[in-house]
Amino acid sequence: MKFVDEAFIEVYAGDGGNGVASFRREKFIPRGGPDGGDGGRGGSIYLVADRNINTLVDYRFLRIFRAKRGENGRGSDQYGRGSDDVVLRVPVGTVVSDADTGEPLADLAQHEARAMMAKGGRGGWGNLHYKSSTNRAPRQCQPGEKGEARRLHLELKVLADVGLLGMPNAGKSTLIRAVSAAQPKVADYPFTTLAPSLGVVRVDMDKSFVMADIPGLIEGAAEGAGLGHQFLRHLQRTRLLLHIVDLAPFDPGADPVREARAIVEELRRYDEALYRKPRWLVLNKIDMIEEEEREARIADFVQAFGWTEPVYAVSALTGNGCAALVQAISYWLDEHPAEALLLEPEEDGTPVVLTPMPIDVHTSAPQSSSKLKQGEST
Ligand code: GDP
Ligand code: MG
Repeated sequence: MKFVDEAFIEVYAGDGGNGVASFRREKFIPRGGPDGGDGGRGGSIYLVADRNINTLVDYRFLRIFRAKRGENGRGSDQYGRGSDDVVLRVPVGTVVSDADTGEPLADLAQHEARAMMAKGGRGGWGNLHYKSSTNRAPRQCQPGEKGEARRLHLELKVLADVGLLGMPNAGKSTLIRAVSAAQPKVADYPFTTLAPSLGVVRVDMDKSFVMADIPGLIEGAAEGAGLGHQFLRHLQRTRLLLHIVDLAPFDPGADPVREARAIVEELRRYDEALYRKPRWLVLNKIDMIEEEEREARIADFVQAFGWTEPVYAVSALTGNGCAALVQAISYWLDEHPAEALLLEPEEDGTPVVLTPMPIDVHTSAPQSSSKLKQGEST
């Protein structure tokens, strides 16, 4: 799987609160002992894998995370309060490394796996800690320890949830640009000339999905471009295909109905399983059609093509209809959760299992990462 969604974030754990030097003052007791309390612990920062999160897109927008510092200690034996930890939820499968050194820190492979990324500072000691038989009135106290800080590189291998089909120039790339919030990088893709464009579509704060344009699937396959295993696998993971049709072709001789049929026919010849996947019709470039004519043109196409539904009409260029399409896709994906796909075994016989939104079989205690050197609290 070749697509990498990534984000760089900065995490700052809270400093510990300062300890304090203070002495008891009570009426009629002239020389009270030390009563300065310790500072509270600063908040730590954790990453926790959550199977309900699909992408890292939110971390491209909000990138700096700070936990609060611990409270200072006070007189009368009062300790400062520790601060709450900050928990950042990331998709299952997120791999974390130190952005500056490249050191691997955690591999959050299971739902609820948790790893501490920056440890909160310990609170400083107040002077009541220094009391001894030889020093009954200690004046020392400690400042709080500094919280750890780190720059993190988060990486997630992603597979597309939604694949786009269509003739060249139908507007697939334009649609992805119109709806996507981020473009994952395509890593070591074997078919460089056929590398799909890919976008992370953000629906709302914690909902997103991946859409991939697959140029060259049809053209490439027809030309015997040797589309391999990997390519097919990538497509097999998609849960939904959008068939993009240019409803207003520039060339007056072009026949959108015939071209759309050709795409479906090639799809069927290329891969029966793909052909049977849920597929929606998306009629594009409606901005090129007079408003009064739109409905009739859409109805004519649908009738001639013999497709009942779902049908969406959009303009990828102006964005008209795109938000409704994204909402509908998101609903549909929620209602059709991905299942593990068992594919042909690798050459050495190991079965290949793609778990799109990883299926959680680990309902027991959250697993901690053994790679993480720091201790785990909580
Ligand atoms: P792809 O080959 O399917 O990826 O098609 P592109 O996204 O590259 O688009 C092909 C051409 O159609 C480009 O010149 C786009 O600007 C244009 N185009 C795409 N969508 C629309 C649309 O909704 N309206 C109009 N007027 N042009 C569009
Ligand atoms: Mg394109």
